[in-house]
Amino acid sequence: MIDLPDDVRRRTAEQICRRLRDAGFRALLAGGCVRDLLMGISPKDYDIATNARPEEVANLFPRTIPVGAEFGVLKVVCPEGIFEVATFRTDGPYEDGRRPSFVKFSDEIADAFRRDFTINAMFLDPETNEVLDYVGGKQDLQMKIIRTVGAPEKRFEEDYLRLLRAVRFSARLDFQIDSVTEEAILKYAANIVKTSPERIREELVKILTEGNARSGFELLDRTELLPHLLPEVSAMKGVTQPAEFHPEGDVFTHTLLMLEFMQNPSVTLAFGVLLHDIGKPKTWSLGDRIRFNNHDKIGAEIAAEICARLRMSNRETERIVWLVKNHMKLPRVLEMKESKRKRFIREEGFPELLELGRLDCLASHRSLEVIRQIQQYISEQKQETLRPAPLLTGNDLIALGYKPGPVFTEILDRIEDAQLEGIVQTKEQAVHFLRQHWPSP
Ligand code: ATP
Ligand code: MG
Repeated sequence: MIDLPDDVRRRTAEQICRRLRDAGFRALLAGGCVRDLLMGISPKDYDIATNARPEEVANLFPRTIPVGAEFGVLKVVCPEGIFEVATFRTDGPYEDGRRPSFVKFSDEIADAFRRDFTINAMFLDPETNEVLDYVGGKQDLQMKIIRTVGAPEKRFEEDYLRLLRAVRFSARLDFQIDSVTEEAILKYAANIVKTSPERIREELVKILTEGNARSGFELLDRTELLPHLLPEVSAMKGVTQPAEFHPEGDVFTHTLLMLEFMQNPSVTLAFGVLLHDIGKPKTWSLGDRIRFNNHDKIGAEIAAEICARLRMSNRETERIVWLVKNHMKLPRVLEMKESKRKRFIREEGFPELLELGRLDCLASHRSLEVIRQIQQYISEQKQETLRPAPLLTGNDLIALGYKPGPVFTEILDRIEDAQLEGIVQTKEQAVHFLRQHWPSP
């Protein structure tokens, strides 16, 4: 979807509110967007809260998608984007610490009190521009405090994901967690595993990609959520490294530094950074010096387990595992055989790997020499030298009397290697090369 300027989306959200109001309902901007507007940040999305029931909302707009009708949530589809319209509600009892067993439609005050944190529980009346704050959200916003709406223990028992959300908002906004709220997080940290892996993944992705990832992970550590969420990452703490290569300190310190240096990372780069040295705790050994033999290979296996646990998509898992598995190859790229180097560089994940490598250097010895050399090498390549058109195809081999079979892949790969090395450049040279290495068809 195209990224429309923010004021267009705001105006559309206000028009949706107006249509609801004209039909006799109450309609307010709610939650995160109010928080962001009050902070002068442009909201990612505008959510609308109303006393109209989902079916009444559906009747007022030509295109709607029922997303959670039983929770009173519906999406209104406009040319400017999709807007969530939710009926004011009170959540029924939480029986499993995951989701309410039912919801009851109610008024805006009750709706404010079911929300997680005071700064997330305000409304804005678009007609009067009045902020409706029933929970002390404005003051907490001013004081930069994350505080649950109501007693933290009760609110966390209802939904343990809020433990992680507190950390996310604190890190992202650079707010302090109120001390009573933080004590409750410490007390309940172990319960985070009762939340569904998908919800946990969504929050972790946001902590890693929306800025201040380092603060997020320091806070996960301080609140003791980390060993329950990602014990493998927690295990990096205190794992010593040779000072010669890692003057910054242990594996966790190194990883935190990389998280700090990341800028607008993709999900896969961010997880790649977090997990690149995940194999180090298991492979630590002391011989002539501290070594982590095979930590890339073992790390790739651990990364795959973590991705599976977090229900990452196959595409994301593949990329993250590839980054972990290949991160140690970067320093040797320029020593590789040319064909191998070109094949490596043209891998789809290579730009992300190079950025991971850059962060790896910055967070250790700080010399970017190798990275610059690789960038220089890449800038000298042309599409034809990296991905030359094939000189021979399977059909050519058949025409030359070769019998089709698995050997064809090997032959064509070897010819492409020779081409990447500059050993063969024309079809005749390729045929000559073929006859030389596979004389009898
Ligand atoms: P972001 O800018 O990251 O989207 P947000 O505040 O909009 O932040 P969302 O996860 O989109 O956060 O949720 C929208 C609103 O719904 C929140 O502001 C909050 O009021 C409420 N909310 C979301 N998740 C919960 C939860 N687990 N418990 C209680 N209230 C929640
Ligand atoms: Mg939101």
